[in-house]
Amino acid sequence: MLGALGERAGPSRPTRRGSGFFRRRGAFGNVAPVYSRSGDRLRIAETFHSIQGEGGLLGVPSFFIRTTGCNLRCEWCDTPYTSWEPEGEWWTIDDLVAAAPPAARHVVVTGGEPLLWTNLSRLTGALRAAGRHVTIETAGTVFRSVPCDLMSISPKLSNSDPSAARGAAVRADHARKRLDRDVLARLLERYACQLKFVVAEPGDVVEIDELMARLPPVAPASVLLMPLGTERAAIARRAPWIADLCKARGYRYTPRLHIDLYGDTRGT
Ligand code: SF4
Repeated sequence: MLGALGERAGPSRPTRRGSGFFRRRGAFGNVAPVYSRSGDRLRIAETFHSIQGEGGLLGVPSFFIRTTGCNLRCEWCDTPYTSWEPEGEWWTIDDLVAAAPPAARHVVVTGGEPLLWTNLSRLTGALRAAGRHVTIETAGTVFRSVPCDLMSISPKLSNSDPSAARGAAVRADHARKRLDRDVLARLLERYACQLKFVVAEPGDVVEIDELMARLPPVAPASVLLMPLGTERAAIARRAPWIADLCKARGYRYTPRLHIDLYGDTRGT
């Protein structure tokens, strides 16, 4: 990330807690965040001021807060430093709220899986009290009651399943967790939502159709199809047929604008 938009903020009082901040559970081990006793800290992989590159708020300048830790292991995860190899520093909620530039009316809390954090409502509540529009980006496998303006849900299709080289236990754990229709239904009923699907092959739309048929009704304009890829060429190759799928179903196409602007660069 370059220039003024890309200046990565840092905590004013970072607190490192070593590697023991997640409880071990299941095939992945580190999936359940443990926060400080006072509940005023979260482990954060990065913060940055950029342009929202995906979804209904495409192009909107936004401050991003990326929590670390995820309960899934997508093969193509573009932030492996929050999932396969989680890293980050501990921030207080006050420091995170203060880090958002005054010009950034929109704040995106992303991950990793931010809804794993049991104190997330304290962060998003404080951000909204400070006048920010808050989007939460989630895979939709965890329900939590949190203040926010938009729940941006990206249910994971089978194209996210880990390769055989990752091991049978990881593959099975991911496949078991990646879709939870009950959680998705609760999120859809509770929040203003958009559903954003990462699409790799034309056949992926069959899974999307099956899922949509089993969820509460969602306006097609709130369903977005996005090409898989972290390189402009890969996204461009998929764009035409994904656009055709959108036209056939009334869904929205979303590019990955941040890739166009900055490439596959961390902190953008
Ligand atoms: S849900 Fe998101 S952060 Fe977690 S592994 Fe998948 S792509 Fe990565």
